Amino acid sequence: MRLKDKVALITGGSSGIGKETALLFAKQGASVVLTDIDGDGGMAVQKQIQEAGGKAAFFKADVSKAEECEAMVLFTEKQFGALHILFNNAGIMHSEDGDAVGTEEAIFDLTFGINVKGVFFGCKYGIPAMRRSGGGSIINTASFVAHLGAATPQLAYTASKGAVLSMTRELAVIHARENIRVNALCPGPLRTELLMKFLNTEEKKQRRLVHIPMGRFGEAKEMAQAALFLASDESSYTTGSEFLVDGGITAAYVTPESPKTT
Ligand code: NAD
Repeated sequence: MRLKDKVALITGGSSGIGKETALLFAKQGASVVLTDIDGDGGMAVQKQIQEAGGKAAFFKADVSKAEECEAMVLFTEKQFGALHILFNNAGIMHSEDGDAVGTEEAIFDLTFGINVKGVFFGCKYGIPAMRRSGGGSIINTASFVAHLGAATPQLAYTASKGAVLSMTRELAVIHARENIRVNALCPGPLRTELLMKFLNTEEKKQRRLVHIPMGRFGEAKEMAQAALFLASDESSYTTGSEFLVDGGITAAYVTPESPKTT
């Protein structure tokens, strides 16, 4: 068991990457608190873990609200006695996010409130708890879009993920001598609810697929495996990194002629 005796807090745990990570971390021996604004989804994940013999508790929290982030951390310590792994993963990609001219200020603020302030609040309250637990691993979900300009504009989202990367670097440096590691997970395009809602026609899906050397979307389970490495002691010398798990999209200048579609 790669996370035996560890306590993990996962935001956005009701669906996609957060859900698959909660299931995997629990299977690897961690006690898992999952938080989300989606209560039904969160309760279902909690139940699934408990039925498989794992330890889990759902706590409803909106990561854009400071007091709810403070409460989710206190809940974790109260429930399982410590905090060793913090996965700041909750995020949104708004359908009205576009270019600078067309994007409303409210959409920009909403996106930053969740994607950027959510990570800040997670760290603001999570780091003191980690100090109390003797250290730990923080994983912030960024995105491949923080590395590339995209033809399909989503300016607020892209900028928010750039902010997650720069926060991650600075946090890693600040807390390196406190036994707290901070890394970013940069997923490529995934077949999760978040992206499929945005790429809602076959044509839009194909436009994205054509850029991926592997010729397919990634799976949330594949991100969970990467998060497991960053969460576990196996990555003990890894901090401040940007772990790209993207089917090769950021490595590609030209992609193969006929990408295999699945
Ligand atoms: P998802 O939509 O399946 O899951 C996101 C979860 O976050 C949902 O359960 C949602 O309810 C929750 N959430 C939304 N707003 C919240 C808030 N204010 N407070 C708490 N929870 C909230 O999407 P996913 O693909 O699993 O996304 C997880 C992370 O991965 C996000 O940060 C996303 O930006 C990032 N990401 C996704 C992709 C992709 O292609 N899907 C690619 C790169 C990065």
